[in-house]
Amino acid sequence: MQSTAPYLVRLERATRTYDAGDLRVAALTAIDLAIRPGELVAITGASGSGKSTALNIIGTLDRPTSGRYFLDDEPVEGLDDTELARIRNRKIGFVFQGFHLLERNSAVENVELPMIYAGVAPRERRRRAEIALERVGLAERMHHRPGQLSGGQQQRVALARAVVNSPLLLLADEPTGALDSATTREVLELFTELNEQGTTIVIVTHDPNVAAHTRRVITFRDGQIVSDCLQSPVSARPSYMPAAAAPPSSTTHPDRSLS
Ligand code: ADP
Ligand code: MG
Repeated sequence: MQSTAPYLVRLERATRTYDAGDLRVAALTAIDLAIRPGELVAITGASGSGKSTALNIIGTLDRPTSGRYFLDDEPVEGLDDTELARIRNRKIGFVFQGFHLLERNSAVENVELPMIYAGVAPRERRRRAEIALERVGLAERMHHRPGQLSGGQQQRVALARAVVNSPLLLLADEPTGALDSATTREVLELFTELNEQGTTIVIVTHDPNVAAHTRRVITFRDGQIVSDCLQSPVSARPSYMPAAAAPPSSTTHPDRSLS
């Protein structure tokens, strides 16, 4: 599924406020943000700065209170929840800190789940789930349940599940938050590989070491974007595998100011 839109994600003055009793919390204030197909982006910032709120809107799990959101050039405000769910299933994969796997089901059954919603026939489902698990290095663990897998392995199952429908957009909210540093590197390497194969990826992280692995870093503070920079990503590959070294550089992203 290839996008021809210049932007896969386009938020225009998107605001999200929450009513908590007498209090109005502005989780996002008039955000402008555009992401092109093929980008690998980190959203970073302190706890409470609005990262998850932004990611949920980008993933159509939530809607802006005001402002506009275009996913793959389509304004989401005209879509009802059923249509949104269908688009989400077709175009977006999600990965969360807590993996969100079904505990009673095997790895391969977990990966099959989005294909059930997409109406893929059982035999084809199994075939594609097996390929996705092989791709994340879990061919030997297909029939293990989540409780029989390490944290890193569980996150790899979640990644396989997120990409099995070949989404245009992969969204990850603190995907390495529950992992040790060695496993974090493995998972980041998978993200890099998926991005090199064409998947657009947005990773929310408060960890600067994770953000260092992406090409573009957007920083949130108090519900606003305070910086949006391009950099040379650090390689997630082990240091004995030399990567083309470039000095770290930082420039303001040209797409920041949308007219
Ligand atoms: P982050 O992911 O950067 O930690 P969030 O996007 O989760 O931040 O939250 C941004 C702000 O919105 C915080 O002040 C948070 O308390 C508030 N918030 C988030 N979700 C809700 C909610 N469901 N109800 C009320 N306030 C919320
Ligand atoms: Mg969050």
